Amino acid sequence: GAQRESKVRVRAHFNYNPDVDPYIPCKEAGLAFKRGDILHIVAQDDAYWWQARKEHERSARAGLIPSRALQERRIIHERTQREASELDSKQNDDFDRELIATYEEVAKLYPRPGVYRPVVLIGAPGVGRNELRRRLIARDPEKFRSPVPYTTRPMRTGEVAGREYIFVPRDKMDADIAAGKFVEHGEYKGHLYGTSAESVKSIVNAGCVCVISPHYQAIKTLRTPQLKPFLIHIQPPELEVLKATRTEARAKSTFDEANARSFTDEEFEDMIKSAERIDFLYGHFFDVEIVNGELVSAFEQLVLNVQRLENEPLWAPSMWVQ
Ligand code: 5GP
Repeated sequence: GAQRESKVRVRAHFNYNPDVDPYIPCKEAGLAFKRGDILHIVAQDDAYWWQARKEHERSARAGLIPSRALQERRIIHERTQREASELDSKQNDDFDRELIATYEEVAKLYPRPGVYRPVVLIGAPGVGRNELRRRLIARDPEKFRSPVPYTTRPMRTGEVAGREYIFVPRDKMDADIAAGKFVEHGEYKGHLYGTSAESVKSIVNAGCVCVISPHYQAIKTLRTPQLKPFLIHIQPPELEVLKATRTEARAKSTFDEANARSFTDEEFEDMIKSAERIDFLYGHFFDVEIVNGELVSAFEQLVLNVQRLENEPLWAPSMWVQ
């Protein structure tokens, strides 16, 4: 047709079902979508209702979806009501959640030969993100590398400065953290540990794939146009499968030492709760979710996704694509 199509694509950060939306002018005209779907915005003239089509259903008709402004209003309204009713049960890091998650404008980010986006493995403790990271590096240590972390703890005998850690004085590390030089940090037994943005960049600049597996709170600091991280959520399988696979792995010693210890039922349940929490807070930021039931197949999926990263244009925030 002669009509010129808009080039606007967004990633939905929420689920939408027009069938249960009391405000939509006509339910049949609505377009249902899920968080993570890429939507092609066809018309944005109306203040409240946009017209959109799912990116992978190009020939399907366009449907109505709430505009950004309408969805923002709804979120604020729902939040006010929820806060009034359950103020006490609120968890601290609820405030970590991006204030208003609606739509994020995206564009295709093309791979550049020899320049790899950092691969960031996020997951609840114990689910296996560190093990998957180690396996990736073991598979090709020339290509996959993790930055040497910084710490303020004293060096132990047998350790080499710059190998296990970069050892720095506390006041120096405090100042550097305050100056935003660390992409993630944490405190353990009175000492600081962390990964500097500079170490990540130097691995990227060396033409390697930087692989890190930080605490999920690092997502906020990592997700910048400079670093362009590829974010993967390593998810636990359902409880029964989680228990069964870990018990079997222990019997066969397929997991490495850190995960070879036995977990209690409560710890397994905590892993699942914690994964749900990560999903609630940051689910809309992940490029990929990998369920780590059988380690071998989770690792295969990881490898496949890293290959996609090298070979395929992938949707990323349009701010990153310049
Ligand atoms: P260790 O002092 O025995 O070498 O390490 C103790 C703990 O420090 C590790 O188990 C881990 O929890 C933490 N740690 C090590 N490296 C890092 C890092 O780069 N960032 C953060 N946040 N914690 C780390």
